[in-house]
Formats: sequence, C-alpha cells, structure tokens
Amino acid sequence: MDELVEMVIKYILTSKHLVAFTGAGVSAESGVPTFRGSNGLWKRFKPEELATPEAFRMDPLRVWEWYKWRMKIISHAKPNPAHYALAKLEKLGILKCIITQNVDGLHQKAGSQNVIELHGSIWRVKCTRCNYKGKVEKPPEKIPPKCPKCNSLLRPDVVWFGEPLPQREWSKAVSEALKCDVMLVIGTSGVVMPAALIPRIAWENRAKIIEINPEDTPISHIAYIKVSEAAGKFFSNLINLIDKHVTSKQN
Ligand code: NAD
Ligand code: ZN
Repeated sequence: MDELVEMVIKYILTSKHLVAFTGAGVSAESGVPTFRGSNGLWKRFKPEELATPEAFRMDPLRVWEWYKWRMKIISHAKPNPAHYALAKLEKLGILKCIITQNVDGLHQKAGSQNVIELHGSIWRVKCTRCNYKGKVEKPPEKIPPKCPKCNSLLRPDVVWFGEPLPQREWSKAVSEALKCDVMLVIGTSGVVMPAALIPRIAWENRAKIIEINPEDTPISHIAYIKVSEAAGKFFSNLINLIDKHVTSKQN
C-alpha cells in the first residue's frame, strides 16, 4: 500500500491542474450513509419514492421527513481526514477545485473554498412556486416548511432524479474536467448521470484518473491508479506524507 500512496503523491505533486470529483463515499467515514455500496441507503429506501419531483408532489410530508432525518445525521457529522486532506491540498495551491455530488456541505466545513455542488445542498431550500431561495441552519422544526414570501411549499434545493443539473455548476464542472491533467475520483459509484460523465470527460481529454473506492465501479476501468481503500484512511496517511514532502522541499 505504501508504494501506491507514494505513486499517488507523485502524480498529485507533479500535476498542473488537479481536480477532485467526490461522491457519497467521501462522507461515509463521517457517518453519513451512502446511497449505494454495501451499506447504502437505497437498500432500505426506494429512491423513486423519495428523491423525485413526483414523490414530492404526491407526499411532501414524507419526503420532508426523510430530508429532516438526513439533515439531523449530517448536522452531527464532522469532516473526516479525506475532506481535510482536500482542503489542505487546496490551501497548498495544488488542488484547484472539488466537484462534488454531495449535498452535505462537509467539504466546506473542512475549509475547502472552491467547491462546485452539482446536486445542490441540503442546507438550502427553494420555493416550489416563486423564486425564493434560502439557507437553513438546522433541520426545520415544522415540516413541510412554507415559503416566507408566498406561503407555498418549500423544498430542499437539491437535484432529484429526473431533474436537470444547475446549469452554471455543470458548465464549470465540464470546464474543470477539460482543464485538469489529474483527477481524484473519490467515493462515487459512477452511475448517477450526467454527473458520472465528469471523470469520463477528463479521461477522454487525457487526464490521469486516480480512483479511491473500496469497491470497483464503472470508472475503475478508466482509472490509471485504483486505490481499493476507504477514503478517510487513505487520505490521512497521504496527507502526512505530503506534509513531509512539502516541508523537506522548503528546508
Ligand atoms: P453512491 O451512494 O451511489 O455510491 C457511494 C460509493 O462510495 C460506492 O461506490 C461505495 O463503494 C463508495 N464508498 C463507500 N464507503 C467509502 C469510503 N469510506 N471511501 C471511499 N469510497 C467509499 O454515491 P454517489 O456516487 O455520490 O451518487 C449518489 C447520489 O446520492 C449523489 O447524487 C448524491 O447527491 C447523493 N448522496 C449524497 C450524500 C451526501 O451528501 N453525503 C449521501 C448519499 C447520497
Ligand atoms: Zn414562494
């Protein structure tokens, strides 16, 4: 494993434009359940019943109950060494941006500044009728919450199955995928479209893909390096070694 870490470090430190693409797995060791994978949420819930505009139209309370439950879990979650390592790499000027499918805000909590949220954020709501958008600090007491402007139903500002991605975020993500020469792909099943196209776009543009995921995914076969380990564990080891590399260079 040490050899693999050294190899990943080599590509990280010699990269010209390093980008990270993350999914639910990067937050798994923070205690936030993933959707797929061996302990995923979709084993216990049906996505089509909860994360779709149709489900919300049919039963907004049920969808809000689910989001309130997830908000509670996420509000107690702390970033893990993978989030912190990415924040540190950005501070060092090595990592240029994170493209995330996560809605939990843990990258920002760890200190990352340049985060593209492809699927929105669980910490924002939007009105189902007018253009109201707002931030939420904690799980709402009363659900389903109502719009302060027009009293219609508020919904989480996240992308549900069958909905388009926010256009500005998507084009920024594509442009980063085209710019990068190395992409870290961390904790994603690589099946949620169109987000899963991002590593493929980078790969087609000759970027080296480094996948960190204990399981194999459809992205594994385009990965230049595959690390079959939990992200938190791998990155805590990696960041210590990077620290050593950087300080030995400075001295
Ligand atoms: P996914 O649930 O489909 O897949 C999770 C992947 O993470 C799996 O491939 C699994 O093997 C891997 N994994 C599990 N533990 C890991 C670890 N410790 N280290 C590294 N990898 C690990 O997740 P996805 O690909 O992000 O797609 C699902 C959709 O679900 C996304 O659109 C996202 O918006 C949403 N989601 C978000 C959160 C969150 O914000 N934390 C949580 C669940 C789902
Ligand atoms: Zn409104």
